[in-house]
Amino acid sequence: MYDPKELFADRESIDSFVEDTLSDYGEYVNGGMARLYRFLGFTTLEWYAEGSTLVDIHGKRYIDCAGYGLFFHGHRNPRVVEAVKKQLDTLPLSSRTLPHKPVADLGKLLAQVTPGNLQYSFFANSGAEANEGALKLARAYTKRERFVATHGAFHGKTFGGLSASGRELYKKPFYPLLPHFDHVPFGDIEAMRNAVTEETAAVILEPIQGEGGVLLPPEGYLQAVREICDEKGALLIFDEVQTGIGRTGKMFAAEHYNVVPDIITMAKSLGGGVMPIGAFTAKPEIWSIFDENPYIHSSTFGGNPLSCAAGVAAIEVILEENLLERATLVGERLLKEFTNLKERYPEVIKDVRGKGLLIGLELATEGAGGMMISETIDRNLLVLHSLNNPKVIRVMPPAVITDTEVDRVIEVMKEATVNVAEVISQL
Ligand code: PLP
Repeated sequence: MYDPKELFADRESIDSFVEDTLSDYGEYVNGGMARLYRFLGFTTLEWYAEGSTLVDIHGKRYIDCAGYGLFFHGHRNPRVVEAVKKQLDTLPLSSRTLPHKPVADLGKLLAQVTPGNLQYSFFANSGAEANEGALKLARAYTKRERFVATHGAFHGKTFGGLSASGRELYKKPFYPLLPHFDHVPFGDIEAMRNAVTEETAAVILEPIQGEGGVLLPPEGYLQAVREICDEKGALLIFDEVQTGIGRTGKMFAAEHYNVVPDIITMAKSLGGGVMPIGAFTAKPEIWSIFDENPYIHSSTFGGNPLSCAAGVAAIEVILEENLLERATLVGERLLKEFTNLKERYPEVIKDVRGKGLLIGLELATEGAGGMMISETIDRNLLVLHSLNNPKVIRVMPPAVITDTEVDRVIEVMKEATVNVAEVISQL
């Protein structure tokens, strides 16, 4: 670790380094975000991370249960880092002229760990890109134009991803988006039945909505959507960018519900918390479009050796270190403790729900989310709000979190809830 104490003469030098960085951020990256950082009092920098711990430049240590769900393997997982370093010393990026091994290895591994007979994978660089590819593939294969998606959904911020997403705030400034997307309430089987027709190329949904506020599908919903798609000849795309690769205690959330989609998309945890990577994996018959033209969909960086080496290591770590069992166990404990909190402080917490290490606490009042997050940060715990439902705080610990750290997460959430309850009682 580059110890800031060795790099900087004193506290003042660190503060002025942070100040310069923040003002460059505001001037050259994102002015609005820089103002938000200052408003929230985030006048420090992420500097070092390992396992569940993130350390800022001032030496403050946080338990990281945020990270947009990236760190299922923790920060800098040693086996993933080792695999990436090894690849870095041989072939980091491909010339894309000849084949290379890491991409074939990852494709084969994904065929083994994805549900049902999903077999072929395309590799991209992000979740949104994975969804773009899946939507394109559905159109090309079915030769149909329409899509059905759900309210509150989050599928990324590219044009296709946004068109499928379900919150106006992020869509409106960019109109017109792609045509032919219909939206129905998540969990409403009748609305889905009415929306899917012989013109529907695909239904796209997250089996558990993440940014929508950790919404679990009602009993039988995903099976019913599968049947509706089969009846109408539409494909079913599961966006598992957030839920996939272990987060919910299964390799894919689809497995909780015994439903096999036609295409599954993933990103986040697939990079093992070290490399950016996205992918979509589909049934063999759908892939025939690549037989006709192998260049029909492509990406210069997609499927690069470094990211694929990280992906292979990420999946192997999960399987060999029993991280799915660990995620289930820790998740059950947190869910139980947070449910107890909800029962004691219903004026603060309205609902608690989740699967594995994707846990949402729905707060009872607008604004309580900000208060809660600032209380937890004061106590060295990072949690995050939900982009499409800010009243829901998400707690997404890594599966490598220790029992002592879990104890601390529970303690901090209790203290934060008590304090927010006190503020609310004075309003
Ligand atoms: N789909 C889902 C379900 C997500 O949660 C996200 C990101 O949070 C995305 C897609 C977009 O992924 P990315 O930010 O990598 O483009």
